[in-house]
Amino acid sequence: MLKCSELVERSDALLAGELSWRQRMSFRMHLFMCRHCRRYVKQLERLLRAIPGMHGKANEAEVEQVMRRIREDDQEQHRH
Ligand SMILES: [Zn+2]
Repeated sequence: MLKCSELVERSDALLAGELSWRQRMSFRMHLFMCRHCRRYVKQLERLLRAIPGMHGKANEAEVEQVMRRIREDDQEQHRH
């Protein structure tokens, strides 16, 4: 089973289509059970689409930006 940190580390490779079938399966298993990573991958995907020419590679600052946005979303939900 993948850990959240492993999934985050490999998510750019996943979105770039660089993972094997087996790796994609373990990704999917994890995403099925972990809503935090589901949100992370969704946000990262959106970010990569928004920036043309990135070819699926996110640098640390951009990943940090996504993580921050996810945390802000969580805080938003707690307020309601
Ligand atoms: Zn996770």
